[in-house]
Amino acid sequence: MPIVGLGTWQMERDDRESAILSIRRAIDRGMTHIDTAEIYARGAVEELVGEAIAGYRGEVFLASKVHPDHATFAGTLLACEKSLRRLRTDRIDLYLLHWRGTQPLEETFRAFEALEKEGKIRAWGVSNFDVADLERAIEIAGEGVIACNQVLYNLQERDAEHLLQPVCERHGIALVAYSPLGSGHFPSTGSWRGDVLAGIAEAHDATPRAVALAFLARRPSAFVIPKAARLDHVEQLAKAADIVLSPNEIETIAAAFPLGPPKSKMPYV
Ligand code: NAP
Repeated sequence: MPIVGLGTWQMERDDRESAILSIRRAIDRGMTHIDTAEIYARGAVEELVGEAIAGYRGEVFLASKVHPDHATFAGTLLACEKSLRRLRTDRIDLYLLHWRGTQPLEETFRAFEALEKEGKIRAWGVSNFDVADLERAIEIAGEGVIACNQVLYNLQERDAEHLLQPVCERHGIALVAYSPLGSGHFPSTGSWRGDVLAGIAEAHDATPRAVALAFLARRPSAFVIPKAARLDHVEQLAKAADIVLSPNEIETIAAAFPLGPPKSKMPYV
């Protein structure tokens, strides 16, 4: 599994050609975990991803998500079929429940297991699950079954480190960081926090965003899926996978972007 993948949320707003080329460049540069969802532009982003990865399917670790409103047993099977069609493939490598909705988890998970048996998905997990949701999910699914919990995690929002990441680690569940670059709100060079990152980036011949990704992925349980729809952005982010931050650099970044007290409600986008 690559530590640095590629997100695709809101890619329908980008220049289509540039977005497709960016996905292909990401695959070339080892960012082969491509994350999408049925809800993104009502399937249009899955279609874009399907076009981009046609011919490269074997190199891609493809993740998509079912909308909670569809997550009954039958609804999940149907949503998966539709995603497969849009993605132009016969299998999804990682299929997630997008967030905890009102459908019983038992039904959704039974559908995931059926899809896995049929070879239509290769692994499954959850997204936006807080500790209580995740513990309930483990109770239902059993140990060693849920592959990941995809949650909001970036330098300005480190709440996942308090409780969620340790729980994930105890149960062998990967923590996939979404919006790892703050969804476009990234500290600019010239601000003191931006300059902290810029100083460390210079030492690694990288950019501040790549350093931020390396920081978030510093523990083996964590993966990051930044979104980029420009070739130069992809090139810069790909470097994150090779950055090894020193303990001192990690401490400096952690001090500039403090963890803060635990939040009573899990943050999400
Ligand atoms: P993000 O990755 O935090 O930030 C993306 C923004 O950073 C884009 O505007 C992008 O610009 C810009 N960017 C990327 N590389 C850059 C660079 N080198 N220099 C300057 N700007 C750069 O945002 P996100 O899309 O919110 O999160 C990433 C992915 O997580 C999503 O795409 C989606 O797949 C997933 N996600 C999941 C959930 C969930 O509920 N499970 C929620 C939100 C997101 P360009 O696009 O112009 O390159």
